[in-house]
Amino acid sequence: MIRFGVDLGGTKIEVMALSAKGETLFRERVPTPKDSYEATLQAITGLVQRAAHRVSSLTGSQVNLADPTQSGIGLATPGALSLRTGLIKNANSTCLNGQALDKDLAKRFGRPVKLANDANCLVVSEAQDGAAAGASVVFGVILGTGVGGGWVINSQLIVGANAVAGEWGHNPLPQFVSKQIVKDDNAYACYCGQKGCIETWLSGPGFAKTSGLGISSEAIIDKMRQGDAAATEVFSNYTDRLARAFASVINLIDPDVIVLGGGMSQVDELYDRVPTQWAQYVFSDEIRTRMVKSKHGDSSGVRGAAWL
Ligand SMILES: [Zn+2]
Repeated sequence: MIRFGVDLGGTKIEVMALSAKGETLFRERVPTPKDSYEATLQAITGLVQRAAHRVSSLTGSQVNLADPTQSGIGLATPGALSLRTGLIKNANSTCLNGQALDKDLAKRFGRPVKLANDANCLVVSEAQDGAAAGASVVFGVILGTGVGGGWVINSQLIVGANAVAGEWGHNPLPQFVSKQIVKDDNAYACYCGQKGCIETWLSGPGFAKTSGLGISSEAIIDKMRQGDAAATEVFSNYTDRLARAFASVINLIDPDVIVLGGGMSQVDELYDRVPTQWAQYVFSDEIRTRMVKSKHGDSSGVRGAAWL
């Protein structure tokens, strides 16, 4: 079985071919066609066909793309398929919205193609052979431009009855906890129509905005590392909010591992502090949940798509 994963991003489309053991056999990137759905479909099919051709010559045996028992094709996509219409919704690459992306690709390949969003691909990749390998209940989180999440339980991706499992970024940030050490008095409106969503506090841009310092999240982290008092304080507020947000997840489904991807996941200080801070908010005297950085980093989308 050769698995082909495609990561469809706003600026690039990447393909990766994985062997049955999960070794990378081939990888290629092309720019995402601008504002053309047809050209996007064409770019995806072209990439997968080239990858299959290269893998065939590399391994000496012909890859049969039309046969789902011999090859897998998965796509990490922005947005999600609406359960109501079967069409893509909420994609920031807007030419995808309103399109039956899965069916259109299936038609071109003559076989089914699996789709999942970036957070679901991250958790699939990390639970399969990444930082959460071997764990039975895994929550994967992207702390990037937005905040998304996904669940793998006993090696199965949990999609959910409404296809929103893990979309914890649009829960309100838990507040009014008796032991809470930070006041959350500047809640911002979220693009989803609510106010004070976890994403508005804990995404990279949300961190910068709610800090009130008027500088980027990267600049705050730099200043915090240089010992700047204001940056140190807003970072400690950030970790307290993240601890509260994760405590509600732990109380609900109690994961073995929480694995982080996205820009904010690169901040090493999170991995000591947040588990120390969540102890006061979790309803248990002992917490064995581990919080870890993703192993595959930026490749988690394309790898997870292949494992779909
Ligand atoms: Zn929201």
